[in-house]
Amino acid sequence: MSQCDHIFSIFKDAGEWLFQLSLVGLKNGNISIRLNDRIYITRKGASLPALKKDDVVSFSLGGHVPEEASSEWPVHLAVYERTAHNAVVHVHPVYATAAAGHIRRFVPVDVEGKYYLKGGVPVVVVSEPAGSGELAVCVADALAYSPCVLVRSHGAFVGGSDVFYCLSIAEILERSAKIFMLEQIIQGVKT
Ligand SMILES: [Zn+2]
Repeated sequence: MSQCDHIFSIFKDAGEWLFQLSLVGLKNGNISIRLNDRIYITRKGASLPALKKDDVVSFSLGGHVPEEASSEWPVHLAVYERTAHNAVVHVHPVYATAAAGHIRRFVPVDVEGKYYLKGGVPVVVVSEPAGSGELAVCVADALAYSPCVLVRSHGAFVGGSDVFYCLSIAEILERSAKIFMLEQIIQGVKT
């Protein structure tokens, strides 16, 4: 299998998992990896659960970014420039995003969330929460010390050593947010 086929296979499997786990919809979310100073990222407008081979776009770190790269490429690039992460996954998790509308840091209340999201997950609040330079800097700075970051009214970015690590952290974040919000509702009913 060629390197391009291998990367496509990783992105395709991850895209299907992300959709099945309700972490992305049909037309949102993006995935990238850094490999030998080259960035491989999903195409602008690509459907993660139905990725095709030409939905993987690549460019050199520090080089020209193709027009067809995901609109969130500034965030992915900033993460690679400012951190040691070799993979970035961007998702639109419903519960975690809803929680981020009301808090500045998501602190898990369940054991799994506390273990994997140590210290909690910062919430970035910016005036243009999609594809902006401000978003890129804020997300990259947060991912330098946290495995994931929430963006108010948008979603979450996860950075790590590989795509499936990022996927697992995104799943834990959303599961933990569900438990957090259900606890809030139950407490509200009891008081
Ligand atoms: Zn998004």
